[in-house]
Amino acid sequence: MQALRLLAHMTQSFSNLNLAPSLARAVAEMGYENMTPIQAQAIPVVLQGRDVMGAAQTGTGKTAAFSLPLLQRMLAHENASTSPARHPVRALVLLPTRELADQVAQQIKLYAKYTELRSAVVFGGMDMKPQTLELKKGVEVLVATPGRLLDHIEAKNAVLNQVEYVVLDEADRMLDIGFLPDLQRILSYLPKQRTTLLFSATFSPEIKRLANSYLQDPITIEVARPNETASTVEQRFYAVNDDDKRRAIKQILQQRGIKQAFVFVNSKLGCARLARSLEREGLVTTALHGDKSQDERLKALEAFKKGEVDLLVATDVAARGLDIKDVPAVFNFDIPFNAEDYVHRIGRTGRAGASGLAVSLVSPSDGRLMADLEKLLKKKVEIEGIEFESDLPDIRKQGRINDGHRAWREDESRDSSASTRDSRSDSRPPRREYSRPSRPADPFFDRPYEAPSEQAKPAWEAAAKSTAPRGLSANIKPKRRVAALFAAQPAPVPVPQEAAQSLETAES
Ligand code: AMP
Repeated sequence: MQALRLLAHMTQSFSNLNLAPSLARAVAEMGYENMTPIQAQAIPVVLQGRDVMGAAQTGTGKTAAFSLPLLQRMLAHENASTSPARHPVRALVLLPTRELADQVAQQIKLYAKYTELRSAVVFGGMDMKPQTLELKKGVEVLVATPGRLLDHIEAKNAVLNQVEYVVLDEADRMLDIGFLPDLQRILSYLPKQRTTLLFSATFSPEIKRLANSYLQDPITIEVARPNETASTVEQRFYAVNDDDKRRAIKQILQQRGIKQAFVFVNSKLGCARLARSLEREGLVTTALHGDKSQDERLKALEAFKKGEVDLLVATDVAARGLDIKDVPAVFNFDIPFNAEDYVHRIGRTGRAGASGLAVSLVSPSDGRLMADLEKLLKKKVEIEGIEFESDLPDIRKQGRINDGHRAWREDESRDSSASTRDSRSDSRPPRREYSRPSRPADPFFDRPYEAPSEQAKPAWEAAAKSTAPRGLSANIKPKRRVAALFAAQPAPVPVPQEAAQSLETAES
């Protein structure tokens, strides 16, 4: 495999690309000026018809990286005929989830807006009939999730023998979900002579095997090597008793001026219960767990995106498949059972150059989970105590302070007499029994968190460059605006090295 390594901060204007005027106009309307790194690398290669193996996460601009050159190549077939036969499927884009499929299809529609090329999206959980009608009319670009595409193939609604381009997007996720057999079947229907583009957050051995089987002499493009993914997430760990966790969340939101956040819990029951009690504390909260229907999930998502909901309390399973990124803050109300879920959770914040906050509330019983997490992060984490503002006057009167509890890995033999210091006469807090974090070595922690300036709007909206109005999908919901890909980049922090991957979704 030929490797093409990246100059991460290289900027190149779209005007260097010689895109067809119809595509260039759409790009200009989207408000894009410079290509993102993945675009600068991938577009010229795809224009040459080469196979590509791209390591890039959602939020890097990879949709345009494959869509624009693919559309440019499709323009050779552009025609205004009403005959379906003149509009066979020539490009197929496969994605793991309905939300991603819908999102990518919307983007492609925008890019193809001034062309005669037709595109459509098919995914499960929706009536097949409208999709069938659209397919029967003929579409050049078909975006699909694997399962539903197979249904349409079996029903003879989709014929794939003229496909020239196939894109396997979020391929690692498709494999995680168990789509490999479906992918293999779909790929077996495609002509051997074609261009195949595979995008994945990581190049695991399984992904490499898939690439070896289906890609021909691909160019490898990486915008961030999987183990070096830079992020801008401020990670904080607080020692908090279970009973104080809600208070901790409320206080941190207030202190930081954060309007919206995700709160992750480990169980369905805990999720519903926590959402209810946060509601009682005056926060507009929605619970997302496995018992919620797809419709309820989408409604919750839409309300959150509109800023009508302050907190989305979610289990890991329910949060998968939700197209929500760049949330200002993520709270781990529970430390995840699975250390890798930590990476997925915190990846909801701090994307695309925006700073984000990830707060983990560590209970005394979380020792083993924290040990697993440290193993994954390959570093010791500093656990801080938390002072509750409303307690301070009283506490000081009594000479006590709420120290949370002993840090989970604190040496039990150390002095733990905070609670026996009631008789202290001075008003200074007693020495804490947990280890105060020393000044973090990580340069990111030296920088104070900056709350989003446009507080009225969700932070990802405020950070977004204004763009052409995004049409509402007939299928799902309004979409986020252009990500702040070129926002001033704060100093990157190397987060969860190994596992720092695209942190999104799973097919439902
Ligand atoms: P993606 O990684 O494809 O999901 O793209 C993330 C977001 O970045 C989308 O909202 C795109 O509209 C936006 N985007 C893609 N390319 C660019 C670009 N060159 N300049 C600005 N925004 C872009």
